[in-house]
Amino acid sequence: MRVIVLGCGGSAGVPMVGGHDEKGDWGACNPQEIKNKRSRSSIILEGESGNRLLVDTGPDLRYQLLRAGIARLDGVLYTHPHADHIAGLDDLRSVNRYMNKPLNIYGFETVMEELERRFSYAFRPWKPPGFFAPVVHKHLIEAWTTKTIADFSLQFFLQNHGRVDTLGFRCGNFAYSTDVVRLNKQALDILHGVDIWLVDCFQREEHPAHAHLGRVLEWHKQIKPRLTLLTHMGTDMDWDWLKQNLPPTIEPAYDGLVFNV
Ligand SMILES: [Zn+2]
Repeated sequence: MRVIVLGCGGSAGVPMVGGHDEKGDWGACNPQEIKNKRSRSSIILEGESGNRLLVDTGPDLRYQLLRAGIARLDGVLYTHPHADHIAGLDDLRSVNRYMNKPLNIYGFETVMEELERRFSYAFRPWKPPGFFAPVVHKHLIEAWTTKTIADFSLQFFLQNHGRVDTLGFRCGNFAYSTDVVRLNKQALDILHGVDIWLVDCFQREEHPAHAHLGRVLEWHKQIKPRLTLLTHMGTDMDWDWLKQNLPPTIEPAYDGLVFNV
């Protein structure tokens, strides 16, 4: 299986809109380092037979799919209904057009309710020919279950993200934990011994809804992955600083990173 990191930025991306000259707020990040430029967090799993599962549809989706050279998907999994993870749903219309069929989407019932509220037009029946709007078919999933989606066997666990819970999953020797601040024992047990873990690490200081560097270092000791990769990074997380200060088994991800598991 291949994992494609479409984006690894926080909810406002890096740089954020702003800055003293209005040309972007980079915070502690060096603007000269291309790996500090981060779009909103999303990944694609790609299997041996070319099967693909997209995780989340953030507001940068169109650009991310173009950059990755991807127009065909076999399903979309949603981790939670925050805008930086769902606001690009409309861009699925281009995938509908390319494949000439509706797309299956998966998530908790609460996520589907929010998607239906915000994107009601995408849940109407398809009226061929063509797609004047995206067309998705919803499928409900529950935490603490295992389900095969787009030929990937996914073991789901619940993560705390402050006021809401989010979906984490393990797929063989890979696990994805975006938008998480607390993990219970059951989740840590599922994650234990995974080969590569891609996990939320928003900043260096504590945060009420996101894991910070100290928390990730603790988890890394408990879970013992061969490699922990950081995602959902904000403007505090400079690439060079991280490379110099992290142990070799923990690395920041970057937009466009592809790895095999
Ligand atoms: Zn979130």
